[in-house]
Amino acid sequence: MPDAPVLLVVDDHPQGRDLIEGELRKRYGGDYQVIRAGSADNPLGQLARLRDGRRLVAMVLAGEGTAGTAGTELLARVGEFHQTARRLLLTDGGFGPPSEPILRAIALGHIDAYAARPVTVPDERFHLAVTELLEEWARSHRPRFEVVRVVGEEWSARSHEIRDLMDRNSVPFGFYPASTDEGQALLQQAGAGAALPVIILFDGRALVNPANTEIAEALGLKTRPGGGLYDVAVIGAGPAGLAAAVYGASEGLSTVLLEPEAIGGQAGTSSHIRNYLGFPMGVSGEDLAVRAYTQAWNFGAEYVYGSPATGLRVQGRERVVTVAGGSEVRSRAVIIATGVSYRRLGIPSLDALIGVGVFYGAATSEAKAMRDQEVFVVGGANSAGQAAVHLARYAARVTVLVRGRSLAEGMSEYLVKEISGTPNIAVRHNVAVTDGGGVGRLERLTLRDRLTGVSQTVPASAVFVLIGAEPRTQWLPDAIARDQWGFVITGSDLPGGGPRPENWPLGRPPMFLESSLPGVFAAGDVRRGSIKRVASAVGEGSIAIRLVHDYLQDSDSSSRM
Ligand SMILES: Cc1cc2nc3c(=O)[nH]c(=O)nc-3n(C[C@H](O)[C@H](O)[C@H](O)COP(=O)(O)OP(=O)(O)OC[C@H]3O[C@@H](n4cnc5c(N)ncnc54)[C@H](O)[C@@H]3O)c2cc1C
Repeated sequence: MPDAPVLLVVDDHPQGRDLIEGELRKRYGGDYQVIRAGSADNPLGQLARLRDGRRLVAMVLAGEGTAGTAGTELLARVGEFHQTARRLLLTDGGFGPPSEPILRAIALGHIDAYAARPVTVPDERFHLAVTELLEEWARSHRPRFEVVRVVGEEWSARSHEIRDLMDRNSVPFGFYPASTDEGQALLQQAGAGAALPVIILFDGRALVNPANTEIAEALGLKTRPGGGLYDVAVIGAGPAGLAAAVYGASEGLSTVLLEPEAIGGQAGTSSHIRNYLGFPMGVSGEDLAVRAYTQAWNFGAEYVYGSPATGLRVQGRERVVTVAGGSEVRSRAVIIATGVSYRRLGIPSLDALIGVGVFYGAATSEAKAMRDQEVFVVGGANSAGQAAVHLARYAARVTVLVRGRSLAEGMSEYLVKEISGTPNIAVRHNVAVTDGGGVGRLERLTLRDRLTGVSQTVPASAVFVLIGAEPRTQWLPDAIARDQWGFVITGSDLPGGGPRPENWPLGRPPMFLESSLPGVFAAGDVRRGSIKRVASAVGEGSIAIRLVHDYLQDSDSSSRM
């Protein structure tokens, strides 16, 4: 198999290495070339030779205790030679928690996973770890059936938008720049004229510069709600909305889920969610979203893609959601799960490193891994201050980057004092992040002094971006109370508080998660006081369904009276 992608095994444990090599050859020998080495064979040199010979390395498996270089150190350098190779650290197993170097390697993105060396033949747990990583690798390196082929200008905004939507919605696609021979051949085959982009479907149909809803319809997705009355309409298919759809449909409620962009919401944009229960090595937001979406679908939830909700009104006992494009959804109860848009830096080189050194939010689970590292926090509000103080317990130095002249403009005094009293926190004012990069992980940031215009590139292991988030609630009517930032107020937090908030029309108090409009609930990040985590959004989505049951029961019994 001289040209097959390589699985490189580096281990100094002679018996272990034989066993690993044997297991890999047996299972993957038909499709991959297995190469083995010890640290005496200069594995970095081997990686360089494979690179120079234009060989594709799919995975490097390195033993934890590899002499010369520790496995973690070797794997940390794989990206210098083969940027997309997956990296699996092999340990001796045991029941204790992973060692600190392993924890640090995970958090800094130096390894993709760790697994115990195989002990039995076959060792299915070992193979599971290998197969999962190979499946991830193969998605972008092995030929796949392209459900959609997109021909467009490489640098046009619409081409980018379509690629992004395909990616976030897990549609297997290929992009062909119109300037290439392949792109031109596809355009000719499809009989398309000069207008771009062109979407060519697996069955040969061609759509010229289509709207998102046209693409969705062509792929068989529903883009308009059915005409009947639903028990519950869930607005937004992030973690909160997906959980509500799964629980609603599984508990017998007729459930419709509206989503204008992509399943998974913000979580779907995260390359690596490490703190969601049940995924010890983390899970990609895309995987989590696709699993949840399939689950909701299997239970019978109806998914309507492509247009945002634009309004909500009460019509007798019904709640009517208006949707862009003119359609309406009639429902007995509504769950608002439209989340927030985290303000992004909007720097593509940094967005490409989200989860491997670039973190949106406090990402407190990463703090321990920042031991002795050079860390940056962007933002001048309390959340940024708290993150800086927490990170300073571990990092060699934390630099807070503030656009304004002083921290006191946006941060509580106690935090400003705490920061100035912490020796390893520095604050830089009037500064903006303009660029950054690294091989496989963040290594540097470019900062511009906003007063002098002078730019400087500094080494950085991690940057935590906390520059605010905006709830997506502009479409809601005034009848739904919101706080000054636009978050939906629910339950006992409603203005007037207590059992009878202002303008509350019912004899009973509003339920937890119920908005100021009875029968309309809010779940996840869009709700005032929410925790802004995947798990809490999922929790609130499922609790909201329990409350919808209570609400429907209540309204059924009052209509019988
Ligand atoms: C880059 C990144 C990484 C993160 N990593 C982690 C992590 O590792 N761990 C963790 O716990 N949390 C993480 N978070 C936070 C977590 O993703 C959010 O707390 C979670 O996604 C909130 O879920 P949600 O369903 O409430 O809202 P969202 O995820 O914001 O989903 C809301 C959905 O509503 C849709 N929508 C908006 N307006 C409308 C409308 N008018 N009509 C219909 N639909 C609409 C949106 O398109 C979106 O799909 C991360 C966030 C980001 C941005």
